[in-house]
Amino acid sequence: MSGFVEKPEPVEVPGLEHLHTGKVRDLYRDGDGRLVMVASDRISAYDWVLPTEIPDKGRVLTQLSLWWFERLTDLVPNHVISTELPAGAPADWEGRTLVCRPLEMVPVECVARGYLTGSGLTEYEQTRTVCGLALPEGLADGSELPSPIFTPATKAAVGEHDENVSYEEVARQVGAETAAQLRQATLAVYGRARDIARDRGIILADTKFEFGFADGDLVLADEVLTPDSSRFWPADEWQPGRPQASFDKQFVRDWLTSPGSGWDRHGELPPPELPQEVVERTRAKYVEAYERLTGLNWS
Ligand code: ATP
Ligand code: MG
Repeated sequence: MSGFVEKPEPVEVPGLEHLHTGKVRDLYRDGDGRLVMVASDRISAYDWVLPTEIPDKGRVLTQLSLWWFERLTDLVPNHVISTELPAGAPADWEGRTLVCRPLEMVPVECVARGYLTGSGLTEYEQTRTVCGLALPEGLADGSELPSPIFTPATKAAVGEHDENVSYEEVARQVGAETAAQLRQATLAVYGRARDIARDRGIILADTKFEFGFADGDLVLADEVLTPDSSRFWPADEWQPGRPQASFDKQFVRDWLTSPGSGWDRHGELPPPELPQEVVERTRAKYVEAYERLTGLNWS
């Protein structure tokens, strides 16, 4: 079992049609057919949306996405139209809301990896490949790859793991031309972002993009290059051969799997509320990622 402990009721706003409550974001359509994406403070771990929110998380991730989108526009167009709040929206939506072009989404999670870890490492240890791509011997958890690779996954339903697939499988599903475009755009954006992050002492180990089409053009959608969609590691602590420190939910995962939480990750029961200290340290990590990457002060 997994998913929501309790699925939140969507906020009702006159003039907006509620479309979808995702694990983290709520989607609406406005009167002009535009997509309104509202990032909540919800956090997920081990495929559960936790019962405790992380204050400011939705705003931090939205502002970070916007900062990145600006730095990528020459590589690929993005879906953001405006950050203006729709009329009648709650004041609390300020800073967490993006009005976007509605796209025909490509059902592929476009992952780029410059370093080996996570599901990539798991596959490598079994077959010396990731998504069917052969890799050299001798790589360990956290090793830098000879060059960045495109490792697509198919989007799973809520509560299920995304599944890594080969490039050939993507080409079968979406067509050879679209697959080539996805790979090209994913690696181009990854390369740009990796270089920007590196200048700030941060390793962008891997990241996931979603793309869609509008009028035949490939458009970068969703959130980009946030700690929810990416692995960021402090470069000065990087040491292959062990799990790396990271700017994300590490405190949450560590606490949930510690005896103190009383929770069984492999059991049937939903995870418990997070202690205040874990909430505060996690919030601080998201803010630190924002501040280190952008060079801006959060508040
Ligand atoms: P979950 O994260 O719970 O598995 P989800 O990915 O559907 O579900 P979110 O990530 O919270 O939920 O919400 C964002 C959703 O909006 C995604 O389904 C994403 O594919 C979709 N999306 C993002 N940008 C656009 C766009 N411009 N047009 C259409 N859909 C979009
Ligand atoms: Mg999503």
